[in-house]
Amino acid sequence: MKRPFEEIVEENADWLFRYVRSKTADRETAEDLAQEVWLRAFRAYDTYEERGMLRHWLARIASNTVRNALYGRPEIVVFSLDAAQDDADPLLDALPDMEAADPLDEVERREMVDEILSAIDALPEKYRQVMTFRFLMDLPVDEVARRMNIPAGSVKSSTHYAIERIRRDLGIPKKAKGDKIMTCENAKNYLFMYAKGKLSPERRAEVAEHLASCPHCREIEESLEELIPHIEFKREAPVSHFLLNFEGETVSYSGVASTWEPSFLDDFDEINRILADNGGKIPESELTIGIGGHGKSVKLNAVFINEGEECGFEVCAEDEFHEYEKMTSCPRVYPYFEQYFSYTGNLPKAGEERNDLGCDGYTALYRAVPKSRGVPKVKQGNGVILTEKGSYNYVFAARYVGMDETCVLRYEFE
Ligand SMILES: [Zn+2]
Repeated sequence: MKRPFEEIVEENADWLFRYVRSKTADRETAEDLAQEVWLRAFRAYDTYEERGMLRHWLARIASNTVRNALYGRPEIVVFSLDAAQDDADPLLDALPDMEAADPLDEVERREMVDEILSAIDALPEKYRQVMTFRFLMDLPVDEVARRMNIPAGSVKSSTHYAIERIRRDLGIPKKAKGDKIMTCENAKNYLFMYAKGKLSPERRAEVAEHLASCPHCREIEESLEELIPHIEFKREAPVSHFLLNFEGETVSYSGVASTWEPSFLDDFDEINRILADNGGKIPESELTIGIGGHGKSVKLNAVFINEGEECGFEVCAEDEFHEYEKMTSCPRVYPYFEQYFSYTGNLPKAGEERNDLGCDGYTALYRAVPKSRGVPKVKQGNGVILTEKGSYNYVFAARYVGMDETCVLRYEFE
């Protein structure tokens, strides 16, 4: 004998609403959808067979109703606040999946989900929308970008902002990054700028803390201090760059300088004041620089030096074949283009170094060779820079090269 449908509604209305609510961004939508679920359940109740699977049956109807209504696509939707975050540091490392059945945690889980949903509801429209697409609908970044008609970079930065805000609103502590000393890998990215004295005071302190506890990185840093005065950009060239490798290390530094100086930008103090007022963020209405692929809508309005800090970029689609990168943040603007990059990657085999940067201008290659290997003898290139202190000798090749030329450095040991 089947139980009356009203009895089932009464018993299950509460959790079913929460279930639907966990998959929708606002209360009104959830209420409408819950009504819809009960209507469908009522229509299907005749065919339902009592086998102790009532909740499962209702949940399946609810799940289908929600995804048909909201996304119009037949995929499984899982409520998860950590799955969609690309970089580490998710809002909640272990927010329980709503499909998981653990009766002991049910109350706690519901409360947590309700709190997060309320916090998402309270966000400004743009962020609420991003969070809904990313976490409630579990859509990939590209898809969210397409639906909202904004660049993928904006989706990521909005997600980051929204999570930080929810974290703050709910008092969820952030994993304290400052509590740990910087890793070697991370420190190496900054050693060049550290040796040049160009880091911000905060970053400088972090690197210094690492150096105090890491003799290996300290060696590299000391050697860089010796080398840097020997590295010279040739300003008469349209572009000049250098590439610097440490033997046995997977870190390289390269720098690019250019004498392109946009004549229409003359008030650098004004630009820097705007940047300072915006915490280094470049307002939408302000100047941007396109690097990488240069789309026709990119205006080269300002030139930047990044002082070894991370600058923000977002990729903007120009059309289906081209895209460009727009700079979104930068600590300071200088009247000429001089930028340093550090990156990790596969190095060329020891004993030979090439520039494959296609530089039409002045190119210099430096390789740091540990002194313990003996004195290097350069077969092709300019020579050896012997450091007075520090643990490395530098071999280098420096000359003007055309776009289709390659600058090669070869050396061996005596
Ligand atoms: Zn280290």
